[in-house]
Amino acid sequence: MTLPKFLRASIALGVGWLLLVAAATAAEPSRPNVIVILADDVGYGDLGCYGATKIKTPHLDALAEGGLRFTDAHSPAAVCTPTRYALLTGQYAFRHPPGSRILSGVAPLGIPLDRPTLPKLLGDAGYATGAVGKWHLGLGDRETNYNAEINPGPREVGFQYSFLIPATGDRTPCVYVENGRVVGYDPHDPIRVDYQQKVGDDPTGLENPELLTNQKPSHGHNNTIVNGISRIGWMSGGQAARWKDEEMADTITQKAVRFIDDQAAQPFFLYFATHDAHVPRCPHPRFRGQSEHGLRGDAIVELDWCVGEILTALARHKLTDNTLVMFTSDNGGVMDDGYLDGTQHDASGHRCNGALRGFKGGLYEGGHRVPLIVRWPRKVPAGKTSAELISHVDLFATLAAVVGQTLPEGGAPDSFDCSAALFSQRPARPCRESLLHQAGNPNWLAVRQRNWKYIPPAPGNGRTSAGPELYDLSVDPAETKNVAQNHPETVQELTTLLSQLRQAARTRPIPSE
Ligand code: CA
Repeated sequence: MTLPKFLRASIALGVGWLLLVAAATAAEPSRPNVIVILADDVGYGDLGCYGATKIKTPHLDALAEGGLRFTDAHSPAAVCTPTRYALLTGQYAFRHPPGSRILSGVAPLGIPLDRPTLPKLLGDAGYATGAVGKWHLGLGDRETNYNAEINPGPREVGFQYSFLIPATGDRTPCVYVENGRVVGYDPHDPIRVDYQQKVGDDPTGLENPELLTNQKPSHGHNNTIVNGISRIGWMSGGQAARWKDEEMADTITQKAVRFIDDQAAQPFFLYFATHDAHVPRCPHPRFRGQSEHGLRGDAIVELDWCVGEILTALARHKLTDNTLVMFTSDNGGVMDDGYLDGTQHDASGHRCNGALRGFKGGLYEGGHRVPLIVRWPRKVPAGKTSAELISHVDLFATLAAVVGQTLPEGGAPDSFDCSAALFSQRPARPCRESLLHQAGNPNWLAVRQRNWKYIPPAPGNGRTSAGPELYDLSVDPAETKNVAQNHPETVQELTTLLSQLRQAARTRPIPSE
């Protein structure tokens, strides 16, 4: 029997298509494990691979050698909480006030439970998900009660496992929370935490400065003393659960490595939010004196060790090749951040933000342009640098593309798919043309469009000018020359753009049907 010609052609086409699909499926590597290492207050100039000479960071330098190092990557905000909110939700934090400011240690969860999150997306894709380290996104549905199971928290926003520093190292409570429970909790020694007034009888830095055996505050930070250091906020109880700052990096790294060990047989997503080099800077004694930049530099050497432990664990499980490791920082560097730890007298010549102007908390580049290294040996070019404009807020859409998940409706409204920028040093098109930067205060925003950076007139933030500021970052990344007066039309255009982006519910266009 002879089949009609058109039918034979159709069958041949169909078979050919099936073969193509089968070949593509066979060639497609399995989805990568994903590890996001989010360092704290590590600036653009703090790593060897970004030009530091006073601090040795061999593990991070090796990570960069094996991957792509970005030179124009930004934290969505210049302080912790809003950056973390934006990273996990793909939404600028200023759109959601509870996630837009630095939170206390008793603040409720700052992420709405119905908001799509990166861990939910990856969990839906079959990933085991874990958060280890600094949280600082609030816990519970009202003031956090550390004497019972704490929820909502990481589990409710998509992390199946969590081991947390609840807020920051310099804030109470100074205890770890694992899967919603205080580690080492003693019901006979209940924990009270307050940010308005003193609770219990514990000495404070203000009343008992003679008991400050570790480091003394330079400003603020003079409430309850724990481990010889006074903190922001008061606490009482939980004596057996209190952490030793010097052991924090070891503790969280051990938990992160254990998560990798436990999940090595399946795809996993680990969000490892390290504490170094946030204050109080208390590296383990074995790291003291290991840099030429005092305790702050030693803390970064400790951070580098933590990264090395993660990479070693991957190698041990033969997962290096198919794990996407991303290293970055939640905001720019800062020197004196509340404790007399020697940093204020640092004479090493080290510049935590390299040649950039400004520090953590501010709108100049030093506040938010951060290191970003991405290594995935199977797909990401090795030993290259990329000048792509990219932000942590883009992780959501980018990782969705990497693992082949569709973005949830209404989800990640400010997140752009920058996966092409991971796979090629010079992608055909930039993944985004513009970007908003948030200072410590969510009302203070700056806008970036291609080479232009515009900071509107606003008080504070370490700014020296009361008027509008415009910089051409292509020739002046250190923001030394305000050219607003020379380009009034650009100032006008960016004033309008900033206002539009701020007021819009989303900045990633909805794809046309
Ligand atoms: Ca930070």
